[in-house]
Amino acid sequence: MRYEHLTSPAIATLDRDSTILLLPLGAVEQHGPHLPLGTDTMIAKAICDAAAEQRSDTFVLPPPWYGVSEHHMRFSGTLTLSVDTMRAIVSDVVGSAVAHGFRRILMVNGHGGNRPALDVLATTLGKTHYGRASIAGLTYFQLAAKQIDAVRDSRPGGTGHAGEMETSVLLHLTPDLVSMDEAKAVYPDTGSPYLTTDLTRSSPIRTYNDFADLSASGVFGDPELASADKGERFFSAIVEELTRFLEDFAKWPIRGRD
Ligand SMILES: [Zn+2]
Repeated sequence: MRYEHLTSPAIATLDRDSTILLLPLGAVEQHGPHLPLGTDTMIAKAICDAAAEQRSDTFVLPPPWYGVSEHHMRFSGTLTLSVDTMRAIVSDVVGSAVAHGFRRILMVNGHGGNRPALDVLATTLGKTHYGRASIAGLTYFQLAAKQIDAVRDSRPGGTGHAGEMETSVLLHLTPDLVSMDEAKAVYPDTGSPYLTTDLTRSSPIRTYNDFADLSASGVFGDPELASADKGERFFSAIVEELTRFLEDFAKWPIRGRD
């Protein structure tokens, strides 16, 4: 179900109305001393692959890998796109897919720093391709926030960047890339009850948080509570929610056409 594995003639035979294309989005940025830089894109892609496995009409586009990570640039290894570059890359990829006749395209984001760009992309691409395609975006830890909270053991603040959930999921997916000896909990003090760094509790306040101001190690949460078993439960709960959404998304009318 991987787009890049298909041939050009095989693409030409796909039913344009029913085929769903998933575009995973993530980041290449520090994830503390215990997780790899590619964590967010790796998780977003794995979720997409697993959801696509369950449907015969869904294909996963190659992810662009990089995301908007300005707020992690003070940590070594982080590579960031500007919001404008991110918008340009995703707009061009989605625009190309629409030009080839695809009508259902979903951006599946795994990185908090991409959310403002994702909001703008969903709106601008929806408008640009109105009458031709249904385009939507989601951030998986918001889509499956309830399900993630049902599995987690950490208190609020424990399931943030490189925290309990991301560490568990990578222990499930790629245990060789996780250094549990280095995993240390950090519950950052944001200095305001209005600001949160927990992935399942999004703040109503929008502001710029430079992550190096809040955590010396770059960890936001409690990776010490992570386990492969919990990772398997997080992962299947998230995939189940994404699959449920895809069942619905598949039925959306193409507004302006249908
Ligand atoms: Zn992450």
